[in-house]
Parts: sequence; C-alpha cells; structure tokens
Amino acid sequence: MNVFFPALRDGSSAPALRFGERRLSYRQLGAAAVPLAERLGGRTRVTVWATPTLETSVAVVAALLAGVPAIPVNPKIGASELAHIVADSSPDLVLAEPGAALPEALAALPRLDIRIGAAEQTSAQETDQDLVGSGAAGEPDPSRESDASAPHKVPVLPHEPGEEAPALIVYTSGTTGPPKGVVLPRRALAHTLDALEDAWQWTADDVLVHALPLFHVHGLILGVLGPLRRGGSLHHLGRFTSDGVSRGLSDGGTMFFGVPTMYHRLAVEVGADPALARALGAARLLVSGSAALPLTDHARLTAACGRRVIERYGMSETLMNTSVRADGPPATGSVGVPLPGVYLRLVDETGEVIEGDDGETVGEIQVRGPNLFVEYLNRPDATAEAFDGGWFRTGDMAVRDADGNYRIVGRKATDLIKSGGYKIGAGEIENALLAHPAVTEAAVTGEPDDDLGERIVAWVVLTPDAARPSADELSDHVARQLAPHKRPRTVHFLDSLPRNDMGKILKRQLGR
Ligand code: ATP
Ligand code: MG
Repeated sequence: MNVFFPALRDGSSAPALRFGERRLSYRQLGAAAVPLAERLGGRTRVTVWATPTLETSVAVVAALLAGVPAIPVNPKIGASELAHIVADSSPDLVLAEPGAALPEALAALPRLDIRIGAAEQTSAQETDQDLVGSGAAGEPDPSRESDASAPHKVPVLPHEPGEEAPALIVYTSGTTGPPKGVVLPRRALAHTLDALEDAWQWTADDVLVHALPLFHVHGLILGVLGPLRRGGSLHHLGRFTSDGVSRGLSDGGTMFFGVPTMYHRLAVEVGADPALARALGAARLLVSGSAALPLTDHARLTAACGRRVIERYGMSETLMNTSVRADGPPATGSVGVPLPGVYLRLVDETGEVIEGDDGETVGEIQVRGPNLFVEYLNRPDATAEAFDGGWFRTGDMAVRDADGNYRIVGRKATDLIKSGGYKIGAGEIENALLAHPAVTEAAVTGEPDDDLGERIVAWVVLTPDAARPSADELSDHVARQLAPHKRPRTVHFLDSLPRNDMGKILKRQLGR
C-alpha cells in the first residue's frame, strides 16, 4: 500500500504540527484529518483557503488521504487573480477555517469548515481523554479501525489513491506572467520529499521552524508535507520575524527553511543579536530557496554564526531539482547537485546539449525525472511548449562546474541581458552592487538601446543611514569588480523593490 504519511497510519503520539501554541500529535492529526477525508469523498477538486494555520495543514492532509486534488489559495490574493484561479480550477468545495470571511468568488461555492475540535491541544501534553472523539468534522467510524486491539490508532481509509493521481494543483508564483495551475501527482510529491530526506539527512527527530505561506511548493510541500512524511514535526511562526526564528530554533527547532528576503533580514540583524547568532549557529540545517540568495547575505550569515546556508533549486512544475547536500561540500553560491533520480542538462540557444562542465558556458536547465508535474491545468498549449521530448524547459539559465554543481545565472525571460554582443546575467551584477556597503537591495534589467541592443539598468535600495553614493560611483564599483562591459548605464534609486509574496523581485514592474 502506498502510505504517504507512515507516522499518521501508525497513530504515533509524537508531535506533528505546532502553530503558535496550538499543537497536534500524529494521532490527533489523524483523528482530525481522517473524518474530514471521509467527507471529501466524491468531490472532484477542493479549494483550500490557505491561511498559515493548523486548519490548512489538516485540510491538505485530508485531501491527500481522500485522493481529492486540493488547490491551496493565497488568502491575500487580489479579486481578479482569485476569479481567474476559481474559473480555471472549477472547485466543487471550499475548505476554510471556521469564521474565515471568504471573498465573493469563493463565497458562492459550497463550504466546509475545517474543525479540529477535541483533537486539538493547547499544550504539548497529550492525554488519552483528549483523544476520544475527533471533533465536529465527523466522528471516526470505529469499524475502520485497522486493529481493534490498539484503541488509540486512528482509522485509516481503506484505499490510498494511485501514484499518478493528482494530489495538488499549485499556482506558480506569477513572477513572469499570470500564475499557471500546475497539476502535481502524488508520485512527484513523494519523490521530492524522499530525495530531500537523502540530501538533507532529514529524520523524524527534525523540527522545522517555518514562517512561509502555505500556498506554494516551498511552504506547503516542503514545509508541511515534508516533516509529516518524515514523521518529524514543524513549528509555524505565523509570520516571519528574526526574533521568532531565534526563539523557534532555541525551543527545539533543528531546521529553518526560508526565502532570500528572510535570510537578508537575518543577515542584517544577526550582527547585533548574539542570541540569534547562537540560535542560527546551533541549527542542524539552514535552507534557502525560491530565488537566489545574494553572496553578501551568505557571507554575513557565515561570519556572524559560523554556519552556511544551503541552497536548493526547484519550481512548482518540477518540485525539487538540485540541492547542496548536507553531507557534501558547501558549494556556496551554487544550488548544488541533482537530487537522486533527477536528471538535469544544459541546452544552448540552438537546442544543442552542452556537454562540458567548465563553470562558464551558460545554458537553459532542462529537467527530467519522477519529480515532474503532469500538466498545466487547461493549458495544453503551454504544457506542450514547456517540454523538449521528455525534458522540461525550466526557463532558468545556469552553468555547471567540474564538481557537478549548478550555478543559476538567472531567468531566460528577465535576467539575461544581451548588450554589445555579450550575454550578461543580471545576478552577478546584482551581487556586485550588493557588495557595495551602501546598497541593501538590487535588481538589474536590460532596456532597449540603439547601439548596444540592450543596456544594463540597475535599481537599488540604499542601506538606511549609509552615505549616499552617486549613480556613477555604483556603476564604477560594478565595472571594477566585474568588467567594463557589465557597467550599469543607468542607476535608479528606489525606496523598495516590487516583490511578490515569496519575496521574488517582480522585474515585470521594472520594465521587464
Ligand atoms: P511564474 O512561473 O508564474 O513566473 P515562478 O517561476 O516564480 O512564477 P515558482 O514555480 O514558484 O514560480 O518558482 C520557480 C522559480 O524560482 C524557478 O524557475 C527559479 O527561477 C526560481 N528559483 C527557485 N529556487 C531558486 C534558487 N535557489 N536560486 C535561484 N532561483 C531559484
Ligand atoms: Mg516559473
């Protein structure tokens, strides 16, 4: 039998989920999720109003148990984007925490409140008394108890869905265009989580400190389903603060997964916060993903807490492709090596596969493996275009070094600037700008230019209180560090960069 969450089947009393001070053991999670799963039978697709709560986690686990595809939706989503997602995914039910006010596009659909009820604990202590009954989501059917002599075992649904059954439909981050619905089978989820177990030596003893949203791959699949598949646990902070991470790691947390904007905040604050430095220094694993982590942040964190942040590279469509391994060399500035079972290749503009590993030849990353999605929902055109034979075209450009590490140069659509006959990656210029003490955030784009084809444009946010450099000073700084042809021709000073909910820079709004 394909058991997605062995610890749930076993009804273990080990901790599973903690959101603030609300906690569930595996046994309690089963007692809440199994009856909910039973109520999902016969549904085709369910939307989950994905607040960062226990309820969202229980709903997604229930949908996985029931084999009903779940569509997690950003509760802060704008009306038009929500209308697009609802029309595109045509759910027949909405799961939401009790009391959540749903916007118009969802309010018209049938709704089921996610009630955790008696199973929920307000402290770490679990008593047998609390395990009786499963709350208002529906009473477990004792006849489904797989072993009547083990009264605390949670009932398990008789059939688990097949490997290829769609488990989740995740919308992409919308960084380069309108979000696309990515249909993910259980096979891809299971593969990615098991590959990360290997790469990160992830065990049931790990406690993940979590502050990511629950409607993308990073926060939901890695952050919630990952610990549950391992039999470990997660502690969600509700929202990200450096202080919360510090306390979470000091209070039993062993790992932290963050996006680069979070690590940037940690890097800025760690120098003046010895408790944070100690907490980060004691963590077993610090992982960054969803966008590139600037080299200056890597360096500052390592200097302050003696630890290296490891980067992994993935997408909604492919789940995880590569990672720096917990048991391998640090490979700072790269996203590491392909995960077990995943194949990567670099392809040049003419479609030829780049065979070398010189660390310099840039190509588009193409991926194949059991981690891939099935299709874009309702977009056979986009699905067909995304594949080159069985290889998925990621749209990300990278180089590969002699140790097999991939270093991402940027996205083909927004980060590759063709200027004066050169192909220049925005990332290295951003890193060079960030190395200037007065620059705290940087983005680089290309603008049409009669002479050069494209010219390099920099957008920077200055460090508060730093002496304000001139545009020329910053351009010279880049040219000195890199090469004269990488000199930004224009520098714009902004108060902040436009970013999405994952902290990814929206270059579309900077004219790309
Ligand atoms: P959309 O496809 O809607 O434009 P998106 O590509 O940002 O949005 P996701 O699937 O959430 O949506 O993000 C995947 C992308 O994030 C990758 O293609 C890559 O560009 C970027 N990415 C993820 N991890 C890393 C990393 N470690 N370093 C650099 N880039 C990364
Ligand atoms: Mg994308």
